Amino acid sequence: MHLFKDVLNIIFPKVCCSCDRGLTKNESLICFHCRSELPKTNVSDAYDNELVNKFLGKLEINFGLAYLYFLKSGITQKLLHQLKYNNVPEIGELLGKWLGADMNMHQLTGNIDLIVPVPLHPKKQRKRGYNQSHHFAMGISEITDIPIDFQSLKRILYNKSQTHKTKEQRWKSVEHAFHISNDELIKNKNVLLVDDVITTGATLEACGHQILKCGAKGLSIATIAIAK
Ligand SMILES: [Zn+2]
Repeated sequence: MHLFKDVLNIIFPKVCCSCDRGLTKNESLICFHCRSELPKTNVSDAYDNELVNKFLGKLEINFGLAYLYFLKSGITQKLLHQLKYNNVPEIGELLGKWLGADMNMHQLTGNIDLIVPVPLHPKKQRKRGYNQSHHFAMGISEITDIPIDFQSLKRILYNKSQTHKTKEQRWKSVEHAFHISNDELIKNKNVLLVDDVITTGATLEACGHQILKCGAKGLSIATIAIAK
C-alpha cells in the first residue's frame, strides 16, 4: 500500500494548495511554510472582536471566531477559492481541525452542544457536489467531539451570487432564506453556527435568528475567514 501511494505520488505529485510547491510526506494540503504565514486572528479574543461587533444590536451571540483574515489576493483567498470552486473540500476539514484545536486550547468548547453548518440551497449543493461549511464543521467536530446537526437548518430560497450586492440588498435576499425543519434538535441547545466566510454577516444573522427563534439556549459563531 505504501509503495502504491509512493508511486502515485511520483505520477501525481501532491502540491500545496496555496503556493503550488511539492508537499513532503509530513505535509497535507498546505505546506509548513504557508501554514506559518496564515493570517490568523487571535482566538483568545473570542468574546470581543470584529466578528462579534458585526452582530452588536442585531443578534445575541456568546462568542464569535473567525480563524483567518481574508485579504484580497492573499493566502486565505487562495485557500477559499480551492475549497469552494476547485473541488478541494478537504481544506475545510483541515482548517476546521486547526480551529478546533485552538478552541480546545482556549476552553471554548465546553458549553457547545451542537455544531450547525450554514446550508446551501439543494440546487447549489448538487452543482458543487458538497457544502464547504459541512466540511469545516466536520473538522471542528473531529477535534472537539461536538456532534453536528446537518439536517435541521435548511436553505429554502435560492440566491444568485451575493458578491456585488450592497449590505441592504444582501440582507433582503437572505432574510427569509432559511428555515428550521426540526425544532426539537435545536431546542435548549448551545449551538455553534459555522460558515466559510463572513462579509456583512447577513447570512449568519438570518440563520442565527432562526436558531434562537426555535428555542436554542445560546448561539456562538465560527467561520474560516473574516473579510477585512
Ligand atoms: Zn505552500
